[in-house]
Amino acid sequence: MTSYNDVSLMIDGAWTKGANGRTIPVINPATEEVIGQVAHAEKADLDRALEAAERGFQEWRKVSPFDRYKIMRKAAELIRQRVDEIAPIMTLEQGKPVIEAKGETLLAADIIEWMAEEGRRTYGRIVPARLPNVHQLVMKEPVGPVAAFTPWNFPINQVVRKASAALATGCSIIVKGPEDTPGSCAQLIKAFVDAGVPKGVIQLVYGVPSEISEYLIPHPIIKKVTFTGSTPVGKQLAALAGAHMKRVTMELGGHSPAIVFEDADVDQAVNILGANKFRNAGQVCVAPTRFLVHEKVYPEFVEKFTAYAKNIKVGNGLDADTRMGPLVAERRLHAIDGFVSDALAKGAKVQTGGQRKGNKGYFYEPTVLTDVPLDARIMNEEPFGPLAPISPFKDFDGVMKEANRLPWGLAAYAYTTNSKTMAQVGAAFESGMVSINHHGLALPEVPFGGMKDSGYGSEGGIEALEAYLNTKFISQLGM
Ligand code: NAD
Repeated sequence: MTSYNDVSLMIDGAWTKGANGRTIPVINPATEEVIGQVAHAEKADLDRALEAAERGFQEWRKVSPFDRYKIMRKAAELIRQRVDEIAPIMTLEQGKPVIEAKGETLLAADIIEWMAEEGRRTYGRIVPARLPNVHQLVMKEPVGPVAAFTPWNFPINQVVRKASAALATGCSIIVKGPEDTPGSCAQLIKAFVDAGVPKGVIQLVYGVPSEISEYLIPHPIIKKVTFTGSTPVGKQLAALAGAHMKRVTMELGGHSPAIVFEDADVDQAVNILGANKFRNAGQVCVAPTRFLVHEKVYPEFVEKFTAYAKNIKVGNGLDADTRMGPLVAERRLHAIDGFVSDALAKGAKVQTGGQRKGNKGYFYEPTVLTDVPLDARIMNEEPFGPLAPISPFKDFDGVMKEANRLPWGLAAYAYTTNSKTMAQVGAAFESGMVSINHHGLALPEVPFGGMKDSGYGSEGGIEALEAYLNTKFISQLGM
């Protein structure tokens, strides 16, 4: 029997209750049962977290990158050792199949190691001077204490990108974790603490998201803000950060187009797009969303993709044969239902799915829709669920116009065997990430981020560390 423990706050090196002892219930989305409580931070807790983060920063910035790397490597090792403990916690609170939870946990260890390694290479440079005996130095310095806000869809992955980039560059961090899925996020923080990250360097708080962000972002101790979540919230937080001139990284929503050209390997496209559409019940910011299929292969694609969706075993993520778990919360069930009923009212046809599965747990059937008009909400708002609207197209210019029609620009996909089309489509997508003929995103060593309404900044590759560094120029005459 997998157990779930109550979740505490981490402030100044100690696991603690909130100052008023308030808690928020945690619900298993597969059973609708309350499985535990997460501590609710008050202003007094946030004040302690801020003071600790300032002290932690002053200490951690003086630790050499090599020593920071050694501690972070240990955290990665602890996560690998604990994967069988951590993954079921994530499944209990978030719903995803254990195998997906394990993959996410192990990827976190890789991300920590990569960021820790890269932190040793935060080189400055020497710029040749115009005058004799002048030395021009470009230095990289940590920005300072960071406020990070992370969502529930990848309770570990969304945090580890922020925390490990911050720690690798010498910053301290206050994480406002996801209240829906606090336990696995806390396990990640625990690994850092157990590995020897000094107290004050990493804090974890939960509570009312808007109250916490409104308090932390303007606070003078906080020097950088990083957020993953929806575009409307991201815009609010970026505006608040802008008013206080804070550095910002925003990883927001998407509405990824997936184009299948007439020369594509249709089976390959169905299998890869299907796996990535329904992974995590579609609650993925880079999930393929608008399926645009050349009219010549459209009937074949619809038939095979529908068969793929019908074949997915939906159930409790703890069961070994489950391929898709429930949605994270009841509110998401209503949101997904809303997208489907709106599309149907506007003339869409359901190829498979289209409704809640059962009446216990927040399960929704993998759903394929065709004949969806462009004014349906699903074609204009991020569905964030297991819904696949498929539309036919005739020519390259027409499909690129549709692919780039929306304000988002996070991820985009294309399937073609023609190398000229690969080059053209790669250049034409208005998107921060493009993957052609496979799903090649989100590894630690490659950039991860969007453009347009999907936000700015990157949470992978060398760009991820740059976001936590200030550039300082020193010009010095004489030795
Ligand atoms: P939501 O907008 O209420 O919350 C999304 C995330 O933002 C949550 O983690 C929440 O705690 C946080 N948040 C909300 N308001 C905040 C505030 N004022 N300050 C700080 N953090 C705040 O929506 P939801 O019902 O949880 O999810 C629905 C939508 O959120 C989805 O449709 C999707 O567009 C978006 N989302 C995106 C991602 C992503 O990976 N980009 C992840 C989760 C949710």
